[in-house]
Amino acid sequence: MVNGTVVLKQGRDKNVRARHPWVFSGAVQHVKGKPQSGETVEVRAANGDLLGLGAWSPDSQIQVRLWTVADGKIDHEFFVQQIRQALEYRQQLGIPQRNSGYRLLNAESDGLPGVVVDVFGDWLVMQALTTGAEYWKHTIADALLEVIPAKGVYERSDVEVRKKEGLETTIGILKGDTPPAHIDIVEEGRHYRVDVLNGHKTGFYLDQRDNRSVLQHYAQGKTVLNCFSYTGGFSIAALQGGAEKAINIDASQPALDIAAQTATLNGFQPERMENICGDVFKLLREYRNEGRQFDMVVLDPPKFAENRKQLDKAARGYKDINLLGFKLLRPGGLLFTFSCSGLMESGLFQKIVADAAVDAGCDARILRKLDQAIDHPTRLAFPEGYYLKGLVCQK
Ligand code: SAH
Repeated sequence: MVNGTVVLKQGRDKNVRARHPWVFSGAVQHVKGKPQSGETVEVRAANGDLLGLGAWSPDSQIQVRLWTVADGKIDHEFFVQQIRQALEYRQQLGIPQRNSGYRLLNAESDGLPGVVVDVFGDWLVMQALTTGAEYWKHTIADALLEVIPAKGVYERSDVEVRKKEGLETTIGILKGDTPPAHIDIVEEGRHYRVDVLNGHKTGFYLDQRDNRSVLQHYAQGKTVLNCFSYTGGFSIAALQGGAEKAINIDASQPALDIAAQTATLNGFQPERMENICGDVFKLLREYRNEGRQFDMVVLDPPKFAENRKQLDKAARGYKDINLLGFKLLRPGGLLFTFSCSGLMESGLFQKIVADAAVDAGCDARILRKLDQAIDHPTRLAFPEGYYLKGLVCQK
């Protein structure tokens, strides 16, 4: 059912006609009807052309997020179709066949704004980030279980962005059984333990899967310092690839406890993994002062820039850790360095890493450029969906 019509200002229909799924409040001329938060509205150009159907979000700067640019119905069947398509894409790539943990729905880029769903073994974990996702979340949970024979759909909508939509944060079971405290998954032959109830985001950083596989190929015989390790994702890949030793540094002790369990799960001798709870910025300085050297350093920090105002500070943060990262590498060593801040563009990130190398006194080269994993696609019409970039640099 359509609950209202959003008419755009003259000349402000270009983005939507170019299939960008967001309508900003500044583009809206007027609203006909009284749509409630999350309900479906028609979007029309000033001349009356129907541009699509979307979810109404009165409290956000993004007032409509489009479900479709066609006419039609937003209902259970619509969500089933979108989910089937998303699954098919991943099946064609062999992702569910080789991984019991993967991203099934990547929001806008899978045609479902605000809807993130990760699969972890027999459970699905959903984030409803927008009013539309919130309004339909039970329907989406039903549709998910129709397409995927899972034991339950668990919601991890404990994310600050919901506040911009006028929504509270929320956690809990949407459908089926509550997941156990730990779910063990397989990722390209590596075993991981995931805490979907209390872990970060939906429990695990699936977006680094392909990059972990890349690192695995370089790891034979190496000593790896894995900074911002979370549950040791890159370290397990390194050890699987034959690394002698991997050292995790993270600020979260619960994450490191899981890392230690994960080493055992993969059958590695416990002494091949060291887990250090602390501040990366501080510890890297200490290691530099002690003159320590590693064959590989991984830098995968959290998002440093939430908005444009924080970009300068973020740039200084990246520069700082990358400079220290280069210093801690032995000559010929590899730096795997990442930025998951969408606002930090690839070119700028590369420049910051280049500056860091110069300041560290080394003439490094890029061996490879890295991206978010292929189950996190980016729609061309929605460049905002691209956020994770990385460089493999050799000192
Ligand atoms: N590389 C990980 C994901 C990293 S997410 C993987 O592949 O799974 C970023 C991590 O940085 C989080 O686990 C967070 O606890 C940690 N963190 C944030 N600030 C930190 C700091 N100053 N020092 C150490 N760890 C930090």
